[in-house]
Formats: sequence, structure tokens, C-alpha cells
Amino acid sequence: MEFGIGAALPLYAGGLGVLAGDFLKTASDLNVPVVGVGLLFQEGYFRQIIDANGRQHELFPYNEPAVMPVEPVILPQTGWLKIKLALPGRTVQLRVWQATIGRVRLYLLDSNEPLNSPVDRGITAKLYGEGSETRLMQEIVLGVGGWRAVEILHPATEICHINEGHAAFAVIEKARSLAAKENISFWDAFWASRAGNVFSTHTPVPAGFDRFPPNMLRKYLFCLECSQTGGLTGVEDLLALGRENEIEEEALFNMAYLAQRGSAVTLGVSQLHGEFSRRIFQPLFPRWPACEVPIGHITNGVHTPTWDSIAADRLWTEACGQERWRSLPADLQQKITKVPDEDLWAMRGEGRQRLVQVARAHLGTQLRERGFGPEIVAQADSVLDPYVLTIGFARRFTEYKRPNLLLSDLARLDRLLRDDIFPVQLVVAGKAHPADTQGKDMISAWIELARQSSHRRRVVFLEDYDISLAQELVQGVDVWVNTPRRPWEACGTSGMKVLVNGGLNCSIRDGWWDEAYRPDVGWAIGDGRGGDARQIDQADAESLYSVLEQQVIPEFYDRDSTGLPRAWLARIRASMSSLTPIFNSARMLHDYVEIAYLPLVKHTRARRAENCKIARELNNWEHRLRRHWHSLHIGEASAAQEKDQWRFSVPIFLGDIDSNDVRVELFADARGKAPAEAISLHKEQEVPGAINGHVYAGLVPAIRPAKDYTVRIVPYHAAAQLPAELTLIRWAN
Ligand SMILES: *Cc1c(COP(=O)(O)O)cnc(C)c1O
Repeated sequence: MEFGIGAALPLYAGGLGVLAGDFLKTASDLNVPVVGVGLLFQEGYFRQIIDANGRQHELFPYNEPAVMPVEPVILPQTGWLKIKLALPGRTVQLRVWQATIGRVRLYLLDSNEPLNSPVDRGITAKLYGEGSETRLMQEIVLGVGGWRAVEILHPATEICHINEGHAAFAVIEKARSLAAKENISFWDAFWASRAGNVFSTHTPVPAGFDRFPPNMLRKYLFCLECSQTGGLTGVEDLLALGRENEIEEEALFNMAYLAQRGSAVTLGVSQLHGEFSRRIFQPLFPRWPACEVPIGHITNGVHTPTWDSIAADRLWTEACGQERWRSLPADLQQKITKVPDEDLWAMRGEGRQRLVQVARAHLGTQLRERGFGPEIVAQADSVLDPYVLTIGFARRFTEYKRPNLLLSDLARLDRLLRDDIFPVQLVVAGKAHPADTQGKDMISAWIELARQSSHRRRVVFLEDYDISLAQELVQGVDVWVNTPRRPWEACGTSGMKVLVNGGLNCSIRDGWWDEAYRPDVGWAIGDGRGGDARQIDQADAESLYSVLEQQVIPEFYDRDSTGLPRAWLARIRASMSSLTPIFNSARMLHDYVEIAYLPLVKHTRARRAENCKIARELNNWEHRLRRHWHSLHIGEASAAQEKDQWRFSVPIFLGDIDSNDVRVELFADARGKAPAEAISLHKEQEVPGAINGHVYAGLVPAIRPAKDYTVRIVPYHAAAQLPAELTLIRWAN
């Protein structure tokens, strides 16, 4: 839904968009054939001003396409490409624009076409437009309209990567269009096209998913014209794709559920987030153990050349060469480790000095524009000190990010800020959602602190956090602090942006930092355990203060006779060499290509060959299993010890199901040191007198008690991704 490319294309709201922007830039660098599809919002990104009373206000500048780096997509025969999209009672035209990101195209759709009704022209007016129905229409424009544009402009496209559930309607349109083209049923086509869909989920809490009331959705689904392809009983079938179950009349339609059910591969955005996602999506896999919910992860990364400072670029170029972000991590690690302390410290000094200058200028403008007199404005020139430990802190001001954790003990913070020998200074930025009064209150609290004469020189709040300001911050700070409430930060990327610049992270072990943290590369706050929110906040604040007081500050000011903080520099070196090569988007894109795109290209080609022969077979297989699943019956299992192995055998009555369509397995849950395991049993002999009854048997090492194992039957087909594509399962009683 959003792409954060840079200041000239303000079509993003925050981290999700910046990630998508970094992704496209990396695809260009690595020459991976990718196109982006998004929306051209007339109001893409609100600007923040802070009034004289310290309150946030929002301005919504109009995005004028004529002065943005976008151009209409012109086709030789028909002129400006416009996509027709049926909405209830009318057809709207979507204009297609393109932006060029290096070697990569970003297509942007808008509905601001004079032929549309004034109301419809407003569908793409605002990023995350107000009102559920507007949001729904935006998501239909993006998913359905977007996929149509791709098919017209790049008909050979094989993989559709749904980045966050907002774009999930693409899976429906992709199947519908294939069904029409191949003259097969919608569900045959769904099986064929799903093999080419990847879904990245981005939220660690179910409340983060977009959900719509079924009645609102019905009228829109009706317009998608899927019913014109054979095999579809109607809108209810489509509706079922987004609902936890069909029984509950009012169950909401969940975009993430549609995305998961429409994709062969679903991935979280960090290791920890993958784990939480397996729990969140568990309802879609009834009776499956959470550990087998088929959701993996690819940890996000940042486009390093976007975020490095001039000084850092120089240092890395000298150490590792021009092409460094395309080379392998091990190579980089080895070379950057050899950079001398003096050079690292010079880079840090340059970065900090520049940030101080930028912050002063930014603050001066900010105060002048709010109507403060020349005396106050002039004070901006004396804020911050280029030699003082600089802690940066910028994020969305929303409850779970806890941007005010550092303010929870003002007396203690005051001591840190006013220490004459080991001083600390804070540079803070961030926006609150226009409707989030709590977030706005938190901003006010920071402004109030920064405007006190006793703290004015040490605390600066810079208004209007955006990509350009983020660049300045991550290039200049010594320490980046991030204090989300675990596990709400699915990944987080801002902390990765400081790595290349020699900044260090001091953060809650959540998102990416949970897997990146080691004692030698930075600092961890909190113990990562759960509990009551209030208690956790208190414990985390305590931990944050004491880590700063006892570890961060003393180490920064621990200088040798040449004036260098050797231990600090060793930490920078460890962080730069071991984390920068991993938490960047070249590694991320490489993972997507290897783990998702390439394997799926193979699957989707196989399924689509010969008029989608295998896909049709899979759809039949699914129907056979669903129809007859109730006829399965599992008899009494027995286990006998043979030396150091258990020999299991169990009579299985398959009813109307062919034994080739299923697998009989032993499953044991993780217990103590033993991991969860699923072991296939083989068909040994017929059960005399039974129809389709077989004894299944197998040997397992007798490491754990036989009673740990339970017999189960699961679907099997060599060409299916399981259980992602079919969630049936039958357990022994
Ligand atoms: C990197 C970035 C983000 C993401 O930050 P997190 O705090 O890690 O979610 C948000 N906004 C801007 C402008 C950014 O550059």
C-alpha cells in the first residue's frame, strides 16, 4: 500500500513503506527482475508541525503528479493506460503512473480520473483513508487493479509477492484471470496461481490485521466477476477465504487470512515474529500443532547506500570497495574488521558534528516558523554539543513503541542530562497518528522537557520525522534507542540504519534485535519475559536507565592517553562487521529469491503446464479428500520394543479415501530436549475382512516413551505445499 523511496515521492506512512522502498532500490542494485505496484495518493504523507504549546498539528500537502518523478504509462496503440474496475453499480477507471527506481519500475494507480464520479476520484485521495469502506476500496484498487496492470504491462510475471495483507485481493484477481485465459474453473486456477504467491506478514498482533464486515464485502466481491468462471458457487466461497470459519454469520473478513490462504509461502519479518505469527495464524490450522503452522521468516534489512553517511561511505569504500553491498557477508566482515580505531573515531566525529549542525538549523527554522522571537530562535545555535554522547530516538509515537519510557523517571533522566563530566544529549523525533491523542500527549511531554531552560541544550525534538530526517539521525547518533513493548515490534528497521555508520543499538530484545543482539555488539534492555504490561514497563524503564548509567555512558567516556574510547570502538567494530552485512536488504532480497521466488517459479510452472493439468489434479484431490475425510478411522495403535527401537503398528481404515492421497504419521510434541517430530508409517498389510483397511507400521528410536507419540492422518500430494494449501488432519482419539 505504501512505498517510501525518498522525499520526492511522499507515498508512505512509516516503516512498512520505507522497507518497500528499500526493497525496490535493492532489486535495482542486484538486477532482480521486480516491479512494484502501489497507489498514487493525493495526500500521501502528513507533515507534522508542533505549535507554540507543544501540540502536534497535521498538514496534508497535495501531491501534484506533474511535479513528482512519475509519468503516465503510455501504450503505443491506446495511449494512457487506464484500468477498468467494477465497483457496486458503476465502473471506475484507474490511471496508471510509473516511477523509475534505478532499473526497477514502480507502478502507481490512482482513481483521480475526470471520468470518474467525484466520490470515486477520492478513493485514492489519502493514504490509509478514513473509514472502513474507503480502505476496502483502496485495497481492491491495489490488489485487483494492480494485478490487472501487471498482466497488461508484464504478462510473463510469475511471482506475486503480497507485502502485507493490504494487497491480498491480488490472489483472487490472479486466479480469476488465469481461469478465464485457460478456460478452467476458478478453483483449478486458484491452485495453479497460488503456487506463485508469497505473503509477507508484518504485524505481531491479530488487531493489526485489516478486517471488514462480511456484508460490506459481499457487494464488492460480487463485482469481481469470479462467478463468470466455472466452478464457483458464488460470493460466499470467496468470503470463506478471509474468514476463520464459515459457521459464524458475522465473522469478519481478514485480509491476512486471505493472503495466507492465497499464498504457497507465508513469511514473518524476523525470527521472533515468525514464531508469533505461527501462533496468530494457528486458527487457520485447526488441530495442527503451532510448531507446524507453515510460516517461516525472512528478517528485514535496510538499503545500506540509502542510510550511510558520506564519511561512512568513504570508510567502507576504502575498506571493502565500490561493489561491497553486492558481495558476500564473510568477505565484508573480514575487511571492515581491519579498519583502525582512528579512522572509525574520525567517522563518528564527522557524523556527530553534522547532526549537531543539522539539528540546530532544523530547530531554528522550527522555532522561527512557530513565531518565537529572535532571542529564542538564536538559542537554537547553542543546542547540542559535537563532543557529547548523542542518543537518538525516532519513531511513531504510539503506545506500544513506548516513546516515553525514558521519561518515566524524570529525576533520574535529569541527572543523566545534567552530568557535567559524563554528559548525554538526546535527539528525538516522531509523529503521532492524527487521531492518536495519547501519542500526541507523549510528543508534548518531550517538547516540554526540551523547552525547559535547564535541558534546552541537551534535549532536542525535531519536528516532521521523514526519510530525510531519519537519514540525518542515523548517520549522526552514537546510540540508537528503541523501546517497544515485546513482542509488538515485528522487526523494526530504524536500528539497522545506524549500523553502517558506526552507531550502536541499545534496545528491547524484540524484532530484529532479538536475533542480532550479542553482548559485544550493543546493549539489551529488559529480560524479554512476559507479564503484566505495567510491571513490564517499570522493569524495562529501570533496565534502560541502569544500562545507560552503568554501561553505555562510562564506556563512551573511557578514553586512553590518545583520547580514544578503545572499548567503545571495539564494540563499533564488532557491530559494523558482524551486523551490517546481515541486516541489510541485499541479504534480505537474496533470501527472498532463494527461499521463496525461485522454488515457487518451479512450482507454478509445473502446475500451469498443459492447461494447468497438475493444478486441476490438485483441486480434484482436495475435493476428494474433503468429501470423504469423515470416513477415515484410526484403530488402536500398539508399540513393542525391538532392541533400541519402538515398533509401532496401527490399523487404519481409509473408507473412501485412496491410500496414495494421505500419509499416516506418528507425531510427538517437543518435550524437554526432544524436538517435535513427525514420522511417516508405511502400509504393511491389509486388515482381513475390512474394506480399505490397512495396518501401518514403522520403527522409531526408543529415545522417548512410546506414549509420547500419537497417530494421525494428513493429506499427501507430491506437488502440494502442506499444510499451507490443505489443512485437513485427523488424530487418533
Ligand atoms: C526506518 C524508518 C521507519 C521505521 O522505523 P522503526 O522505528 O524501525 O519502525 C519509520 N519512518 C521512517 C521515516 C524511517 O526512515
